[in-house]
Amino acid sequence: MYRIRFHGRGGQGVKTAGRLLGTALFLQGFEVQDAPRYGAERRGAPIFAYVRADRQPINERGVVRRPDLVVVTDQSLVRLAVAGVGAGADDHTVTLINSPEPPAAWKDRVQAQGTVVTLPRTLDLENAEDVRLVGASCAGAAVRLLGVVTRETLAAAIREELGGLGPAVVERNLSGAFDTYDAMAAHEGVVLPCDDAPVDGYTPPDWIDLPFDDADISAPAIHAAATSVEVRTGLWRTMRPVLDRERCSRCWWNCVTACPDGVIVADQDGYPVIDYEHCKGCLICAAQCRRHALRAVSERRAQAAEAAATGAQPAAAPATGTEPLREAQP
Ligand code: SF4
Ligand code: SF4
Repeated sequence: MYRIRFHGRGGQGVKTAGRLLGTALFLQGFEVQDAPRYGAERRGAPIFAYVRADRQPINERGVVRRPDLVVVTDQSLVRLAVAGVGAGADDHTVTLINSPEPPAAWKDRVQAQGTVVTLPRTLDLENAEDVRLVGASCAGAAVRLLGVVTRETLAAAIREELGGLGPAVVERNLSGAFDTYDAMAAHEGVVLPCDDAPVDGYTPPDWIDLPFDDADISAPAIHAAATSVEVRTGLWRTMRPVLDRERCSRCWWNCVTACPDGVIVADQDGYPVIDYEHCKGCLICAAQCRRHALRAVSERRAQAAEAAATGAQPAAAPATGTEPLREAQP
């Protein structure tokens, strides 16, 4: 069985990549599972999708714990522990990263035991045109790394999955997928199926007793009040809204009420104050502000500026890792 995991951020085509690969494998005659996994958060939050493929029925369920191939669309996730990019990887696992840095640098940095390869052309995640290609490009590369799906079947999968979006979208994605498929020829078949015992042939383990954890760990959090504050969603942000007080007209009811996470409050003078621990960077507030008093600033640049002001080391920013970083004016 092949087990593949795609990691990226919401809005970067991770779900599409998994879908395209899953459909390509299915059209090639494999039994397939493909499923994305994400929460209620939107753009910028770490998400993943997984695909299983086998020549026989797949009885294994749940997320892929021991991947044969890990595809990382956004290199900034590698150092974000909560994203779990390296979870379960071993010397059998091939890792494909969208990065301008060479595979050797990544292999050294993440102490990868298995093969590391990078996309032949780095996709700039701050470039809207490139972002549109992430799904197909990663699927095309993954197909070649597996080496069990033909170019024609890859094209058929793209047409089947994206045909409803019109011929221009199909052509663009075919081009992106073929570019990476062709460029990865030297690595064809580098991903090998795992030889784990099939799920239908294994011996069930004996029951074991687990001691109770403290109630605040073992009790279902959903029954406890006000626990969402414990989740620092600000860690996922790639861009942050920054207030320009000169432009702000203190019409706080506009931006305060627009924030879906309720992380903006007005101070006693009527200026908005943003809780960056929990602001996830969706930038709805910036779009809502008609005076353009909320600027979208890249997280890496904002943290570097903060560090320079305080003399502290910048935190591990969830930045895109693609240079040069741009600031956007909504
Ligand atoms: S909507 Fe814009 S101008 Fe009004 S308070 Fe918010 S940031 Fe200031
Ligand atoms: S403060 Fe702005 S960017 Fe942050 S979560 Fe609220 S609406 Fe989104």
